[in-house]
Amino acid sequence: MRETILHRLNLVYSLALALFLGLNPAWVLRVSAQEFLPDTSLEPAFRTYLKIRSVSGNEKPAGHFLQSLAASRGLNTNCLLCTDSTINIAISLYPLEEKKPSIILLSHLDVVDAPDTADWRSPPFEAIQSDSDIVARGAVDAKGLTFMHLGALLAFREKHKNDSLPFNVVVLAVCDEETGGEKGAKLIAERKLDLLQPWMVIGEGGSGITGLIPSRPSTPVFGISVSEKVNLWLRLDLKFSSFGHGAAPPDSYVNKDMLKALHKLSQIEGRPEFNSITRRMFKELGRMEGGLKGWFISHLPSRIFRPFVKRRMRREPVLSSMLQNTAVMTNIFNPPGPPNKISNKATVFLDCRLLPETRIRRFIREIRYGLIEPRFKVSIINEGPRAEASNPELAEYKCLSNAILGVYPQAEAAPFLFPASSDNNYFRQFGIPTYGITPVVMSRTDLESIHGTDERIKLPDLRRGEDIFYRFLRNAESLTPKLYFTPVGNR
Ligand SMILES: [Zn+2]
Repeated sequence: MRETILHRLNLVYSLALALFLGLNPAWVLRVSAQEFLPDTSLEPAFRTYLKIRSVSGNEKPAGHFLQSLAASRGLNTNCLLCTDSTINIAISLYPLEEKKPSIILLSHLDVVDAPDTADWRSPPFEAIQSDSDIVARGAVDAKGLTFMHLGALLAFREKHKNDSLPFNVVVLAVCDEETGGEKGAKLIAERKLDLLQPWMVIGEGGSGITGLIPSRPSTPVFGISVSEKVNLWLRLDLKFSSFGHGAAPPDSYVNKDMLKALHKLSQIEGRPEFNSITRRMFKELGRMEGGLKGWFISHLPSRIFRPFVKRRMRREPVLSSMLQNTAVMTNIFNPPGPPNKISNKATVFLDCRLLPETRIRRFIREIRYGLIEPRFKVSIINEGPRAEASNPELAEYKCLSNAILGVYPQAEAAPFLFPASSDNNYFRQFGIPTYGITPVVMSRTDLESIHGTDERIKLPDLRRGEDIFYRFLRNAESLTPKLYFTPVGNR
């Protein structure tokens, strides 16, 4: 009921906006507000899916559930590179064997774990609804996203049940995203592009954030990611023997030296660095604001505003992570031993997220320099793929941004640098247009709940997300399908 009213309001809003702007309302309403009818019968399945504890490494039950759900709806399904420990599910409009250029809607089966503690409003794997939110690990990241994709695909199939389109739509849910994607997206991108024939990939990315336009703080700005930071996991080992007893502390021993080094590391202050994407982002934000303040925002990347930007970065962690390399000490440990014996080995894991243009060897050299202690061994545990930014001038990008503005006519959308890393770069590295969007308007606490406590989604937000992907597919129909990257089998 509520949804119907919302849709009506949306329709009135877009008509008024179109008339006000002097646009042809027929264009704005090419996909009319009533055209997308959410498939509410997916909701019980969504809850069941949320209850499956698909922590990375244990995605099989979630994958099989999704596959049989899609098959029961008459969609084509494939289990790609499925072994005892891996599973990747492709759900498609047409059989993959037809090898039509595909729009890939990418998400993942795995979630980060959440302990069943009292910190959560309700247990993280029970998917209980409270205050109109469904609270569950994965509600947004990425099970909610998968269901948005699936809902859109079902509605799109309904629209075209008698047609043979020149392109395929593939909902691809992979394993292992949360632990780097080595067993999921990486393998798929290495071995299955021949089968998938990707035209473009729409994966995880920015959400709608309010408070970014000073004069219109309630206007959400959707960040469509066209580029993202590169994942680098480092292991630091310090190992040497000292007189090993707690009663006679030596001047130097591993834990003491490790702490000194880490303290030093934590004090290295990042310098803001702007690239073409972040420059453009500030330009767009300036345009949205307008006036003198808008001019100021669009010129923030100028060198003269550096001191201001630095001050802002200290207060705004998201801004800060978008403009500099970060390194978080995620784990510190010694081998087990009694409390009175000084350990001769200490290990620290660093989760580093680097701006796309950072030279990794140089970054590691800087870390080593920051450690002072020459006995440190620095090794790379995992290094994510690097990719050139996808072009936000392509019509494919416009299809997505128009779809968002069709559902949220009062919002704004702009290309941005995703301040984390996802599976997107595995596809983007081949020059396949890859855009990231998680189309939900989120407050700061909503954002913190992803990978944190009380991750949640509202059912109307889920439906609006489906509507956005549905409109995106409808917009894409007007384009000529194209392969920007030629898979080996086609050469
Ligand atoms: Zn995710």
